[in-house]
Amino acid sequence: MKTIPTLRHDVSLRELNTFGIDARAHAFVSVKNIDDLEAIAADPQLSVLPRLILGGGSNVLLTKDFNGLVLHMVNKGCEIIGDDAGHTIVRAKAGENWHALVQWTLAQGLPGLENLSLIPGTVGAAPIQNIGAYGSEVAEFFHSLTLYDFLTGETRVLSREECHFGYRDSIFKHALRDRAVIIDVSFALPREWQPNLRYAELVTELGTRGVSNPTALDIADVVIAIRRRKLPDPAVIGNAGSFFKNPLVSRDQHALLVARYPQLVSYPQADGSVKLAAGWLIDQCGWKGRSIGAAGVHDRQALVLVNRGGAAGSDVLALATKIVNDVRARFDVSLETEPVIV
Ligand SMILES: Cc1cc2nc3c(=O)[nH]c(=O)nc-3n(C[C@H](O)[C@H](O)[C@H](O)COP(=O)(O)OP(=O)(O)OC[C@H]3O[C@@H](n4cnc5c(N)ncnc54)[C@H](O)[C@@H]3O)c2cc1C
Repeated sequence: MKTIPTLRHDVSLRELNTFGIDARAHAFVSVKNIDDLEAIAADPQLSVLPRLILGGGSNVLLTKDFNGLVLHMVNKGCEIIGDDAGHTIVRAKAGENWHALVQWTLAQGLPGLENLSLIPGTVGAAPIQNIGAYGSEVAEFFHSLTLYDFLTGETRVLSREECHFGYRDSIFKHALRDRAVIIDVSFALPREWQPNLRYAELVTELGTRGVSNPTALDIADVVIAIRRRKLPDPAVIGNAGSFFKNPLVSRDQHALLVARYPQLVSYPQADGSVKLAAGWLIDQCGWKGRSIGAAGVHDRQALVLVNRGGAAGSDVLALATKIVNDVRARFDVSLETEPVIV
């Protein structure tokens, strides 16, 4: 049986989740390669434990100690691996920092990912919820990924179709949750690049800077500036970004809501449904800036729940439940959480 040199027991996860929740892991391994995963699968004690795969911990809420094995992804590196029709293919290891990958592609003269600048976390987690921001989402640039499947003991490659990407969703939140470990992800970056200026705030900010023909680097700079202005830094106050997804409602329900609330913030979707701004709904229920104990709603972003210091994950979850109940009672709309609740 292979040894696993990085195996530790009773490990604090406080520094490994951006909420800064002080939960502990029964067992913990830093994963550098497939050999580590095969060694875990072959170990009679470790292979039967519940698993939690952890990248940067920026999209999890730890509500209790984890009585299982945490697999912390630490494999790093990015490389250009080839071309296909009109695209350059770039591959990055799962433990690589997402923003570092975006910056690296731009430095190579490979635009595409700039609208997704500064999203916290790792490359391996990006497909899990199909990360998105400022009019773009990772599925647009996704080529394929390599995963290790603990159920079958196989390493295999998944195409975009096989990942079932949706709005903040993929197969990894469902059938493959905690079973498939993403080892690396490949991206197809277009050689004929067009700026993505669908998001009005980007256009406004570029205008303020006097930029009329933006390069990908200009867009990255603007995205970074807006994000720094709008989102709380987890190094200062614990959070996991947006805590709720923007809910989708039917056109009929939207019409009823607009009749009662003319200020309703909403975005029509291509499939006829309408996306509502969850932050607006929460704000209308009076939650912005409020706290219950050390768990709070951010003062400027009602969509962001924060740990004001010493909150337990269960405190944050209790606050989230109250918000969900209030929004349902007032608007008859169900909010879904974005981070993975553990
Ligand atoms: C301030 C802030 C702003 C944010 N802004 C955005 C935003 O604009 N858009 C957006 O989409 N998200 C945003 N997020 C959420 C978060 O950054 C993303 O979801 C990110 O992809 C999570 O990466 P991570 O490595 O931290 O994942 P983790 O939190 O470690 O894990 C998240 C989930 O992915 C699974 N996972 C992680 N790595 C792997 C792997 N290698 N294989 C299999 N499963 C894995 C975990 O088990 C867990 O279920 C924000 C978060 C913060 C704190």
